[in-house]
Amino acid sequence: MLYAGIAWSADGYQVEVVDADGARALPPTHWGADRVPELTRWLTGEERHPQGPCAVALESTNGLVDGVFTAAGLEVYRADPWHLGDRPDFGSVPALALAELARTGRDALAPLTAEGGGQTGRDDDYHDGIRRSAPVEAQLTEAGRWFRHGPRDRPEIALTFDDGPDPVHTRQVLDILARYDVVATFFCVGLHVRALPDEVRRIVDAGHGLGNHTWSHPFLPDLTARQFRLQLDRTSEAFDRAVGRVPAVFRPPYGSRTPETLAELLPSGPALALWDVDSWDWARQGPEKITSTVLDHTRPGSLILMHDGGGDRRQSVQALPAIIEGLLARDLAFVHADTLAGLPETL
Ligand SMILES: [Zn+2]
Repeated sequence: MLYAGIAWSADGYQVEVVDADGARALPPTHWGADRVPELTRWLTGEERHPQGPCAVALESTNGLVDGVFTAAGLEVYRADPWHLGDRPDFGSVPALALAELARTGRDALAPLTAEGGGQTGRDDDYHDGIRRSAPVEAQLTEAGRWFRHGPRDRPEIALTFDDGPDPVHTRQVLDILARYDVVATFFCVGLHVRALPDEVRRIVDAGHGLGNHTWSHPFLPDLTARQFRLQLDRTSEAFDRAVGRVPAVFRPPYGSRTPETLAELLPSGPALALWDVDSWDWARQGPEKITSTVLDHTRPGSLILMHDGGGDRRQSVQALPAIIEGLLARDLAFVHADTLAGLPETL
């Protein structure tokens, strides 16, 4: 067995692989987020390195590749802050340190599964953060900058796709939306915006909305206020470079939040857009189940959460036509998430 550590930074992923004795088994490599499918095949040993699959360790601040890796059958472990030394304000600990954790510290790390999702085992921190955030959320709501859905008395909904752009699935989603002539909003992550600017341009050119979904999809309770601020700002900068505008809405990864991080949004910045309809598409229970979950829960004003990136999204793509047809049959109009909440489209 080989042991891989995946680090993230401003320009993609760094990968180190060690053997059972802790010696470097392969040269260090660097991968842009556009090459995650290739990286996955490399880690499974299907492509380029023939030494069998790697057990992978990554940080809780890296929530973009675990779903892809577990779907490919890889053993994946999440390292939480108490397993790690000091982390930089922007980036993770070095890949070699994570590879060493994969080799020697797997019993202490959280094993991730495709069904369990990236925050497995962190329920207490998740709910504690949400509970403590209530006063800040009240302030943001008061300022009109926090919402789960739009007005219930207008026949409008917003379809949203998180964790892209993805080198494969985003284009498939765009093709289906175009076929029905409806718009959606894409909550993109900075790592992918930087690696796939053409896909972001394609989204904008087709008339869809954009949202900020952080740089590396971290579990927010594990970030300092400064680390959160950098996740937000670097992603805004990547959008600005790709399409010349900065989204006016932000969605926290997993819906996780803390008062310390949300306070960064209080004086200015994007509005916080959660959702009231969760498709659970990431759990991959079949396209029919995804469709019925969405159609059973959507009502006027709904903000519907789906995913075009961050994992195997074939079922989301397969479910989409029936979802759109079901919503159109109810005469619901598709609008951007910021429009649904009565916000301007750009900061
Ligand atoms: Zn997400």
